[in-house]
Amino acid sequence: MALRSAAVAAADQWTDPDDGVRYPAGEVHGWVQRHNETVCGLSLSRSHLLRFPHVSWADVQPESGRHAEEVVEVCRRCRAGLGARRDERGWTRTNPRP
Ligand SMILES: [Zn+2]
Repeated sequence: MALRSAAVAAADQWTDPDDGVRYPAGEVHGWVQRHNETVCGLSLSRSHLLRFPHVSWADVQPESGRHAEEVVEVCRRCRAGLGARRDERGWTRTNPRP
């Protein structure tokens, strides 16, 4: 799965008055476009989650995202599934040389 290009599904939304674009609010989940469920396995329709194909997962991370002002909570399971920044260190390649 192309997790790096994950978008966002959220419980709520708000519209930025500057550009008129809607952004996620409340609890946010990772979502891959054309899927009917979030990365952590919630059904979008059953959980009444809104889709934000124009907002990337990175943009809603409170510590670094551009559109995280109204984000209350980031789903921990989605975060784990998509690789929080902290976890990405584990990917660093170690090159054991003699
Ligand atoms: Zn989730």
